Amino acid sequence: MEIQVQKVPESERKPHTRDESQLVFGRQFTDHMFVMDYDAGLGWHSARIVPYGPFNMDPAALVFHYAQEIFEGLKAFRRPDGRIALFRPKDNIARFNRSAERLCMPKVDEGFFFEALKTLVKMEGEWVPKSQGTSLYIRPTMIANEAVLGVKPSSKYLCYIILSPVGAYYKGGFKPVKIWISDEYVRAAPGGTGEVKTGGNYAASLYASVEASKAGCDQVLWLDAVHRRYVEEVGSMNMLFVYDGKVVTSPLHGTILDGITRRSILALVQEMEIAVEERALSVDEVMEGAVNGRLQEAFGTGTACVVSPVGQFTYKGRTVQLGNGQMGELTAKLYDTLTGIQYGRLADKHQWVEIL
Ligand SMILES: *Cc1c(COP(=O)(O)O)cnc(C)c1O
Repeated sequence: MEIQVQKVPESERKPHTRDESQLVFGRQFTDHMFVMDYDAGLGWHSARIVPYGPFNMDPAALVFHYAQEIFEGLKAFRRPDGRIALFRPKDNIARFNRSAERLCMPKVDEGFFFEALKTLVKMEGEWVPKSQGTSLYIRPTMIANEAVLGVKPSSKYLCYIILSPVGAYYKGGFKPVKIWISDEYVRAAPGGTGEVKTGGNYAASLYASVEASKAGCDQVLWLDAVHRRYVEEVGSMNMLFVYDGKVVTSPLHGTILDGITRRSILALVQEMEIAVEERALSVDEVMEGAVNGRLQEAFGTGTACVVSPVGQFTYKGRTVQLGNGQMGELTAKLYDTLTGIQYGRLADKHQWVEIL
């Protein structure tokens, strides 16, 4: 499929934020976006790169009513030599298709979608910020846009990619987060959609995050929906623990998103010859472990932050501290290693990086 390109005239381009320390996550978007349409019987068509702007959509479009929607999140990094790198982009596209399948949406051609993504990022290359820790966030999205109120898989879809320059996640240094362990609400149940990236999972998570924030916490840690006992994910991140000197994380058993950062961090841990255990870890082990010292470090992993160290847990009215208010030693080492590979300071032994 050919990609038609309609450029924004030079004189109408948006001004770039000169002071990159002012960039905030997901508020500013680049000049162009990639869009394509799907119609049952026709397949994907009309691939185009056009000026960034609103869609004209029917109020009855299925996505607005029954949330048939999926998305992805990945980043482009500016290397010291000025070139632009993507981190494991094919893994994101493969996951996009797994999400599509679960939501009864059409798959994209992975090779074509990768080319489209690269073409857009290259075209918007100027938008990839240069200072330490900054990047260009890439958001592929697919929505159902048949105008009908019947509950069924849509016969029409819109797939698009938008780009947002983002600032360094850790501007003022690493600040370990306060975690609220929800004993009342759950994120995902077996058989549900917890393992795919769909907006509905997030809509359902907001109530508990408001509750957490009222209690002075930053993020919600979800327990499994069946026993309400085993730790699963935190906010939009996978959760890893350094427990008895091993790295412990929940297995991917259907309610947890298969994070690309999680996968990469586990590979780095193994390379450091530290044992990895994918097993159920109970909330009691976490709370007691923080007190008796068996739990040494805990951190979330995700594209936006890479790692997010945990400083305290609150569960059923009890709060326990972890560490001394600093990022744990292994957490810091993993952060430096993974960002080193992404920004090109360290060798990319695993071939995770795609240079544009
Ligand atoms: C996106 C996401 C993650 C992190 O995945 P990465 O590929 O590492 O960015 C973890 N949990 C949830 C629920 C997510 O949506």
